[in-house]
Amino acid sequence: MAVPRESDTQWVQGLDRIVDRYNLVGNLDACLTCGKCVGNCPVAAITPSYNPRQIIRDVLMGNLSRLVQSEEIWRCFWCANCYRVCPSDIHYPLLMMQIRYKAIEHNFGLKYVLPFKRFALKAREDAMTFVPGAKGKERVMKIRSEAGMTPWPEVSDKARSEYQALFDLTGTTEWLEALDESKEKPVEFKYREGRIIYE
Ligand code: SF4
Ligand code: SF4
Repeated sequence: MAVPRESDTQWVQGLDRIVDRYNLVGNLDACLTCGKCVGNCPVAAITPSYNPRQIIRDVLMGNLSRLVQSEEIWRCFWCANCYRVCPSDIHYPLLMMQIRYKAIEHNFGLKYVLPFKRFALKAREDAMTFVPGAKGKERVMKIRSEAGMTPWPEVSDKARSEYQALFDLTGTTEWLEALDESKEKPVEFKYREGRIIYE
């Protein structure tokens, strides 16, 4: 039986350069498709549909829609094991970070990033990356007081304004505020046991 061909009418030319807009993974086309990344990935070991080699192939071929719509691109947890073993020195975790930005631009995967929106905007406001809830705060204050410190870390006005300026100047504040839950599109399983799903 003839193997059906993938439809390529919608594929995007030069997608690797579009995704990797800051040229963080400029050697992507040196991928040997050896699969060492897959064999050493803890996520792929327990999730057969997750396949870094296939994802790289889709970036190189220009299959934007499968990439941005796929549930799988949200599975990587940046342990960098794939990068450690790659004979071509391909920094896959950095590629994955950029693929996710691309997905978010198309309103896919918002459910994975929206929980961080409130957290990050609060961090900007407080000039602290993490402020615990009331109970946790009470405990921190007790420990600090017992250690002879001020009960709560003081952040100077200068430090606060610099911290906020970094958020604003890098576009992070604008990016976070633009994340809109109502525009969310559902992600789907787009890969099956590391093989291409013919459509
Ligand atoms: S280990 Fe490196 S060269 Fe081999 S398939 Fe993965 S990314 Fe490509
Ligand atoms: S960084 Fe991601 S893809 Fe690479 S081994 Fe870790 S979980 Fe797997």
